[in-house]
Amino acid sequence: MSTSATSLPAADFYGFEALLSPGEKAKLVQLREFLATEVAPYAVQWWNDAAFPTRILPKIAALDLAAPDRRRLSHLFTGLVVAEMTRVDTSLATFFLVHHDLFVQALIDFGSAEQQARMLPDALALRSTGAFALTEPEHGSDVAGGMSTTARRVQDDAGTHWVINGAKRWIGNGTFCDRMLLWAKDAETGQVRGFFLDASLPGVMRTRIEHKIALRTVQNAHIVLKDVRVAECDRIMGENSFHDTNKLLLGSRVSVAWQAVGQQLAAFDVARDYAVQRQQFGRPIASFQLVQDQLVRMLGNLTSSMAMMVRLAALQDDAEAGLSGAGVPGAEGQLPTMAQVALAKAHTTAAMRETVALGRSILGGNGIVSDYKMAKIFADAEAIYTYEGSYQINTLIVGRAITGISAIV
Ligand SMILES: Cc1cc2nc3c(=O)[nH]c(=O)nc-3n(C[C@H](O)[C@H](O)[C@H](O)COP(=O)(O)OP(=O)(O)OC[C@H]3O[C@@H](n4cnc5c(N)ncnc54)[C@H](O)[C@@H]3O)c2cc1C
Repeated sequence: MSTSATSLPAADFYGFEALLSPGEKAKLVQLREFLATEVAPYAVQWWNDAAFPTRILPKIAALDLAAPDRRRLSHLFTGLVVAEMTRVDTSLATFFLVHHDLFVQALIDFGSAEQQARMLPDALALRSTGAFALTEPEHGSDVAGGMSTTARRVQDDAGTHWVINGAKRWIGNGTFCDRMLLWAKDAETGQVRGFFLDASLPGVMRTRIEHKIALRTVQNAHIVLKDVRVAECDRIMGENSFHDTNKLLLGSRVSVAWQAVGQQLAAFDVARDYAVQRQQFGRPIASFQLVQDQLVRMLGNLTSSMAMMVRLAALQDDAEAGLSGAGVPGAEGQLPTMAQVALAKAHTTAAMRETVALGRSILGGNGIVSDYKMAKIFADAEAIYTYEGSYQINTLIVGRAITGISAIV
């Protein structure tokens, strides 16, 4: 006897979605409908082909999900948007958060009025796309202190401009973006500076990174910068030091932890559906106790990850409303601390890794074929585990906070 998975409880087992406002719930339903019709039927093919579907960008823009804090949407809503996108296609969610959480948010947080007027309308409407170029071929985890790319200030008859030399690696959306928020070390002062770099400038050489086993639909670029001349008006003006970007990186790290939730929602959906349908020994495999144990461990990981993120979202909302962080030390009137966010990123991605491995095991041999979705979910998890601060680096950020001793270097 087989059971229809549609009549079974939702993967959001504790009903966290009920905390959304009616308007937010309606927007989430709209997003789900879009994902079900425009993304789900094609996501595996895009992944197999390693081809990004730029044609759907106007439809994503029409969902009107950009800059949620400007419209007083809750952080829970913002997080669930990322989780739902990831649940259907992790690559699409990654495109979305690189563009919105990093590039657009930087324009909002640090862009001058002139830069915002010039770049923001097209970026918000996805008529132009953005990337975030920080990592370098020789500097990943240590890039903040060890950056090699340089920006040299030059003053001549044409006015002030900067000459940039160096290389960046792994830059999401980097092969096709119109602009990238590029970080380079000031050759004179050693300070790290940001530029809203026009990607079509002479000297910007972009190569697609091939043969990826994760996030195949996202286009990651290896970028070489040779004597790239950038106008002063494209430098981040409101930006004094790289440490001022903490709010930006904190926000995107929260989003990546929500991706770990989305990955687990997807893995649970696919594994449970498969387990109730797949027959072995004349019975659905879901009837075997060891398979139920794996499904329950997946659900436990997913639910604990979601609970952590829901609390973090409440802290973000409270902080923006100027309320106390409900008894959390250091949280009063502040965003959650980087250590609180790092714990969420480390914990949810570790839980995700176990969850997707359990899901892959439930699908047996079919779990290694992308056609059955689970292999894609399993492989994509590896990128999430590593980017936005690897599991180890986020763990060490928490370790430093709870002991007062840094073990990072
Ligand atoms: C799919 C994908 C998309 C990405 N998108 C972007 C993007 O859009 N923009 C961007 O700027 N970057 C991007 N990145 C880069 C990403 O942020 C880096 O991969 C990440 O920071 C790790 O750097 P690394 O790969 O150079 O690894 P490394 O820093 O070389 O680390 C290798 C291993 O050593 C460990 N390690 C390093 N230092 C320590 C230490 N002190 N203690 C303990 N362990 C340590 C790490 O945890 C890791 O396991 C992307 C990466 C991937 C895979």
